[in-house]
Amino acid sequence: MKHAQSQALFARAQARIPGGVNSPVRAFRGVGGDPVFFKEGSGAWLTDVDGNRYVDLVGSWGPLILGHAYPPIVEAILEAARRGTTFGAPVAAEVEFAELLCATVPSVEKVRLVSSGTEATVAAIRVARGFTGRDYILKFEGCFHGAGDPFLVKAGSGVETLGLPDSPGVPSALAALTLTAPFNDLEAVERIFNEKGKDIACAIIEPVVGNMGVLVPRPGYLEGLQALCQKHGVLFVLDEVMTGFRLARGGAQELYGLKPDLTTMAKVVGGGMPLGAYGGRRDIMAKVAPEGPVYQSGTLSGNPVAVAAGMACVKALAAPGTYSRLEHLGLLLEEGFRAEAKAAGVPVTVNRVGSMLTVFFTAEPVFDYASAKKADTAKFGRFFHAMLQEGVYLPPSQFEAAFVSLAIGEPEVAHVLAAARKAFRALGDA
Ligand code: PMP
Repeated sequence: MKHAQSQALFARAQARIPGGVNSPVRAFRGVGGDPVFFKEGSGAWLTDVDGNRYVDLVGSWGPLILGHAYPPIVEAILEAARRGTTFGAPVAAEVEFAELLCATVPSVEKVRLVSSGTEATVAAIRVARGFTGRDYILKFEGCFHGAGDPFLVKAGSGVETLGLPDSPGVPSALAALTLTAPFNDLEAVERIFNEKGKDIACAIIEPVVGNMGVLVPRPGYLEGLQALCQKHGVLFVLDEVMTGFRLARGGAQELYGLKPDLTTMAKVVGGGMPLGAYGGRRDIMAKVAPEGPVYQSGTLSGNPVAVAAGMACVKALAAPGTYSRLEHLGLLLEEGFRAEAKAAGVPVTVNRVGSMLTVFFTAEPVFDYASAKKADTAKFGRFFHAMLQEGVYLPPSQFEAAFVSLAIGEPEVAHVLAAARKAFRALGDA
């Protein structure tokens, strides 16, 4: 497989775009080598600028649950664009979309549309602070909520350690307001809430983590967190940017029976266009300007083209059998990866919920940040490149989720598992 055109483009890109990419993880730093540039996607398949074809298990990091260029979404986009791409004024489709979102995710009584997941999480935190009058937030180690300042904080060694900025440019005074706890550890949350609960506006969590690779919540963990939040008057914010409309039509909150105070969404809800949303309890959302004093705005918010794509996507997901099919495909891949790794003598742990999946290169269970960090990233890098060579595009990092789309059929599953057989064998022989 040749990548001459991709390499030439990457060389040009590096001269004019920081790191050659418009979002860091695209640059293959986690696996080595140069990124692949794509020119086309159709259904489950991607074609790169050199003409190589791949089964896509990234799906643009989650949005493409229906596959690339899904015809009803493309039609909806074209039809909306012909009527004008933006008005900066209300349109009927926004109202219809808000009604559809509230009907699909019952904890969301009122919703505000934005243009990305980061905008949604940043706004949700501001609203939580504005509503409670408290300044601290709690997040969980290894969870990612976008590139907003309050989230670029990593855990110190102890759970009570105050946040340290993870990136230059985030003032330490702001980072200090972000507390962190390990995922899947309720006692740690209890300790933090007992000490500081009265000053904490909200706890924000990925219900199923995708951003440390897939971490599965232990039975009772999310329900326990919700109960602790209620006890301490801390708002429970579910970041469903990855899980919304993916794990169930009503998201992880439907799957696990949760009722968050606020929910953030993006990715699938926008059908592959730049669209995010945050919403929740009516009394909390009443704080958002112009109904209330908490300011948040966007020139392209509720953009009619993005709304048309989102509407087409969310409506398509109502088809009977959607989520049982995703579960079936996910299970085939999970069992297939595990069997091929075992046959090749390569120790792995496969974590999966529905159509989100990660093959960790470690024999140990992976359930939090510390256990995920034990995975052998060099081995993952070799596996990634072997899979790429065989025509399978995986997320270029051990610490990201692979996403299954509805465009994948039995032939694609067979293609992926045949590639995995070769890739694991090459690792086993090394
Ligand atoms: N929250 C979660 C859980 C995410 O996975 C992401 C992006 N991967 C974000 C927020 C940020 O979304 P965006 O990239 O659309 O800003």
